This record gives sequence, C-alpha cells and structure tokens, in this order.
Amino acid sequence: MFCRIASKKVPAKIIYEDERVLAFEDINPQAPVHALVIPKKHISTTLDIEDEDHALIGHLFQTGGKIAKEKGIAERGFRLVVNTNPEAGQTVYHVHIHILGGRHMHWPPG
Ligand code: 5GP
Repeated sequence: MFCRIASKKVPAKIIYEDERVLAFEDINPQAPVHALVIPKKHISTTLDIEDEDHALIGHLFQTGGKIAKEKGIAERGFRLVVNTNPEAGQTVYHVHIHILGGRHMHWPPG
C-alpha cells in the first residue's frame, strides 16, 4: 500500500518528499498532528532493516524531527512511533514512522 503511495498510484496529502523518503498525513489521525514518514525503498518491518539501510533509517528519523518542527510541535513534545508486527498494532507492512503530537501523550501507551 505505501509503495503505491510512494509511486503516486494512490493519492495522499504529501508534506515532504526527497529521493529517499516520503511524508504524508495519516488518513485516520490519532492526534491533532499525525503524519507518516516512509522510506521509498520497500522494507516490511523493523526486523527487515539491513546494514545497507542504516543511513536511510537515520534520515527517516531526522525527517520525522524536521516535520515536527515544521508542524510547530517540536518544543512542546511529540512522538516518533514505529509499530512492529501484530501485537504492536502494525497494519501496513512497509516501515513507517508515525509523527504524533499536538496533545498530551500518555505513558504507558495503550
Ligand atoms: P500501523 O498500524 O501499521 O503502525 O500504521 C498504519 C497507519 O497507516 C495507520 O495510522 C493508518 O491510519 C494509516 N493508513 C493506512 N492506509 C492509509 C492510506 O491509504 N493513506 C494514508 N494516508 N494513511 C493510511
């Protein structure tokens, strides 16, 4: 599914793009700010990250932080969340970072 967003076959509200990553608004937001950042390369889960992906994954997280700044939630606080496999709630098997913020976050997470 997210490969189809990356290749523009499925529309999304894109907020950032470069040659390696794409960020877009989550279709079912769980907070006032809820965006996703994906690598354009298909990686199914965090368990499938390979040595050659290290720079890409670093870039993914750095992009998450930059988007939080642009959205005005960096100072007050935000979450970068990556779910892996069913018990964690992963529903789309293409690695993605959730950028969540704009409201108080609870711990432990539900
Ligand atoms: P996961 O549960 O795998 O960690 O997160 C998947 C996220 O992708 C969910 O928050 C869900 O709302 C979002 N999502 C699923 N399908 C689409 C889609 O087609 N477009 C967009 N923009 N978000 C999607």
